[in-house]
Amino acid sequence: YNHQLQKTERMQVISEMAASIAHEIRNPLQVTRGFLQLLSGKANESNQFQYSMAISELDRAAAIITDYLTFAKPEQETLVIMDVKQELSAIETILRPMIMLHGGVLFVEASEHLTIVGSSSKFKQALINMMKNSVESLQQDGKIEVAAYEENSTVVIRISDNGQGMDEEQLAKLGNPYFSTKTKGTGLGLMVTFRIIEVMQGTLVFRSEIGKGTEATIRFPLVRQD
Ligand code: ADP
Ligand code: MG
Repeated sequence: YNHQLQKTERMQVISEMAASIAHEIRNPLQVTRGFLQLLSGKANESNQFQYSMAISELDRAAAIITDYLTFAKPEQETLVIMDVKQELSAIETILRPMIMLHGGVLFVEASEHLTIVGSSSKFKQALINMMKNSVESLQQDGKIEVAAYEENSTVVIRISDNGQGMDEEQLAKLGNPYFSTKTKGTGLGLMVTFRIIEVMQGTLVFRSEIGKGTEATIRFPLVRQD
């Protein structure tokens, strides 16, 4: 009995199904979105809220599909050498509105010359999925800290939040498809994140305490640039 093997086979099945379903569903979603936008342009003021709700729910569906596609096709065709500090600052720009909406603050502190190899868009997706979870866990006086530094030829990226935290049972389920404690959660975000980091030869470890917060540590091999 090999637990690891069993998990891999199950994931293979999920991957293949997801890839075909995702391709088929993307197009009609795009078409519907286009028509809704057209209609909302012609509709009167009082209907605008319904239109924008409909469009944002469509976008949510598209985002779920993106998660599946990434998982189905985690190979990273366009490998580049990335500067972690630059990537983090791009991620900060993307997430800032969401963090402000939750009334939290974000601190990012990254050393210079931290270079890693991978696909920049997938790396961003991996970290955004994690940081969104941090944002969604925030309580009062929410704070998210991201630190990036070198340690023994390894690039360490640590994401800490002072959110609601997790117990051991929840920690053990992280990355399992469909594990979610949220009413509108998909339970796909961390599955994708784990996969992307794995493909990049990295590791991801979580520590957490209920009521205190969560600390996620990612490690990648440092790429020397000479
Ligand atoms: P989703 O966000 O759709 O629920 P994820 O795979 O992103 O799916 O996360 C799975 C679950 O892990 C979340 O529902 C939440 O319970 C837990 N989780 C992940 N990150 C954190 C965090 N930083 N703080 C508290 N709980 C977390
Ligand atoms: Mg999530």
